[in-house]
Parts: sequence; C-alpha cells; structure tokens
Amino acid sequence: MANLMTGKRGLIMGVANDRSIAWGIARALHAEGAELAFSYQGEAFGKRVEPLAASVGSDLMIDVDVTDDASLDAGFAVLKDRWGSLDFVVHAIAFSDKNELTGRFINTSRENFRNSLTISCYSFIDVARRAAELMPQGGSLVTLTYQGSNRVTPFYNVMGVAKAALESSVRYLANDLGPQQIRVNAISPGPMKTLAGAAIGGARKTFKTTEANAPLRANATLEAIGGTAVYLCSDYGACTTGEIVIVDGGYHVLGMLQPENL
Ligand code: NAD
Repeated sequence: MANLMTGKRGLIMGVANDRSIAWGIARALHAEGAELAFSYQGEAFGKRVEPLAASVGSDLMIDVDVTDDASLDAGFAVLKDRWGSLDFVVHAIAFSDKNELTGRFINTSRENFRNSLTISCYSFIDVARRAAELMPQGGSLVTLTYQGSNRVTPFYNVMGVAKAALESSVRYLANDLGPQQIRVNAISPGPMKTLAGAAIGGARKTFKTTEANAPLRANATLEAIGGTAVYLCSDYGACTTGEIVIVDGGYHVLGMLQPENL
C-alpha cells in the first residue's frame, strides 16, 4: 500500500457489521494509514462495532442516532476534544420502513417519506455542517447513494427519492463548502449483500441481474468501494467535488440486458 492516508483522521458512520459498506471503506482507509473513529447507532450495534474498530487500531467510538440532534452534538464534541480537527467523514447511513421497500411506490406513507428522507438525506447535511467546523484546513465528505435515484428500480421506491435528494444535496454542499477546500462526493455502488440491502424487495434478483449483465459481469465489492473512498478522501481526489462516482461493474451504461439473458 502507498500510505495515501497517512496523517489523516476521519469519522466512519454506518458500520453495522463486517458486511457493511462503511466497514469495507474503513478497512481500505486504514490500510492506507488513516486514523479512524466510528459512530454506531445504539448499544447493540456498539457491541458489534467495537471489535471491528479495535482490529483497525481504533478505540474512538461515538453513539450517534442521526435523528437526535443531541447525540450528533455530543458525538462531534467528543471528536473535537480528542482530535481537535477532522480530515474526512464517510456517511453510510440510510433507512426506510421495510414494508414500503416492496410493492408500489404510490403507496408511500407520509410518515415513512419523512423518516426516510430525514435519515437517508438530511442527516448528511446535518453531519456536513458539524464536520465542516472541524475542518479548518479543508477535508473530504463522502456519502453513499444508489442509481435507483435516477432510474426506476422495482421496490427501491421512496429510497430512490431519498437518494435523488441526497445526490442533489452533495452538489449544493460541494458548492457551499468548496471555498473552505472541503470536497463533497458520493459513491454509488451496485447492489451489495448488507443488512440495508437485504431489506429491499427482490434484493437477490437485483444482485443476480446486475452480476449477469454488467459489462464486467461482476457486482461491486467492499474492496472496490473502499478503493474509491480512498481516492475521494486522499489528495489524489484533490480536484473532485460534487461528483457521484459509480462503482457497479458498469451496469448503469446498459440500454438493455445482455442478449444471452433475454
Ligand atoms: P448497513 O445496514 O450495513 O448500513 C446501514 C447503516 O445505517 C447501519 O449501520 C445503521 O445503523 C445506520 N443507520 C440507520 N438509521 C440510522 C440512524 N437513525 N442513526 C444512525 N445510523 C443509522 O447497509 P449498507 O448497505 O452498508 O448501507 C450503507 C449505505 O450504502 C446506505 O446509504 C445505503 O443506502 C448505501 N448503498 C447500499 C447499497 C446496497 O446494495 N447495500 C447499494 C448502494 C448504496
């Protein structure tokens, strides 16, 4: 490895277990020399994250529920006390009621629309505002999205709308924070076998379809997504902001399925 992240410190949000995209990213950033802190959602997740954090040399963990301002404030206060400043934040957080990730989009409830957008989109804005205060020398903010934002993907439903709002937020945040040399980007992986991924109706079929039809005939891997995060968080990404970087084996370029699969 090239030590691309040596001397940089950052917060990883959204590790639930060792299949989480956030964990793949944490591993890649650690391998390049980054010092990491982790946020987790409540005690039960904390127990799972603790050994993972320890395995990459981190004992800096904060309990943050992004729907709770007080927990966000307290978490960032801990980071400020311990480190003083931050170089990057990875936001890999999304939520929607599982019952609405199946069936028809038209049946989206007001309550789940509000929750999904609050947790999956607004939380990134909330985090960006707090993180920017700890980035006097500039930095990098990375979130995770999915192409269901701009192409209809059966059962992705309200999450597609949340991801569209998130991607637009990436561009507005990039413009706001650019003068402070804070870059804001999103990674858009193809389907992954994670807790959140499994909650979406037809997840297995989506996974298989992408694998069978993507130009590379492969799904994204935690390593490939991690490598993209290293690029965006390291100085190699110094002039990239407001971007959605797609890591899906090329699936998004297709106009139709491969002939052998028709
Ligand atoms: P995951 O279940 O491992 O991670 C989701 C995380 O969101 C969990 O750690 C959970 O604790 C956290 N979270 C949910 N609500 C929260 C709240 N109120 N406060 C704090 N944390 C909260 O699943 P994942 O697939 O690794 O998801 C990470 C990101 O990647 C999400 O934004 C997801 O939409 C995105 N993504 C996933 C896929 C996929 O197929 N799995 C594809 C593209 C993008």
